[in-house]
Amino acid sequence: MNIDLNPVFGITGKKMDIDYTIKAEDVDEYPRVSDVKVFGSVQNKTDIVTLTITCSYELTCLCDRCAEEITRHIDQKIEHELIKNLEDEQDISYIEVPDGNLDLDELIREDIILNLPYLFLCKEDCKGLCVQCGANLNDGECKCKSPTDPRLSALLDLLD
Ligand SMILES: [Zn+2]
Ligand SMILES: [Zn+2]
Repeated sequence: MNIDLNPVFGITGKKMDIDYTIKAEDVDEYPRVSDVKVFGSVQNKTDIVTLTITCSYELTCLCDRCAEEITRHIDQKIEHELIKNLEDEQDISYIEVPDGNLDLDELIREDIILNLPYLFLCKEDCKGLCVQCGANLNDGECKCKSPTDPRLSALLDLLD
């Protein structure tokens, strides 16, 4: 969605509500993201317009250890300060909107991708797959014998 922020930039204290949905196909293919519900506002605070929104969506991807499909609900808070003329180019914390028009979908899409976890795990202690037979070890031990340290077998022999 393109938002015309000019009415907000004009008046200090002016606020505009944001409440819409971005279609899933406009977000990304993998990891799969559902429709994104966007709720919040833009508000003018002395010539800086602050965007404060929450994006709610389901994220579906494969566990990096066991390849099970997992779906998580995510409420992602996003806040940006928007400014019409960026004078100090070093300051990248502001987003420049020279003509007052903001492509909000694109901004949200980037923020969602940046927020993706480095590692997707179905659960913190996912045991993954057996390297020999490929069995999912979360479902229980597989038939493969775990390689035993020869020194340990010698010790076990002694105990017998
Ligand atoms: Zn897993
Ligand atoms: Zn195995």
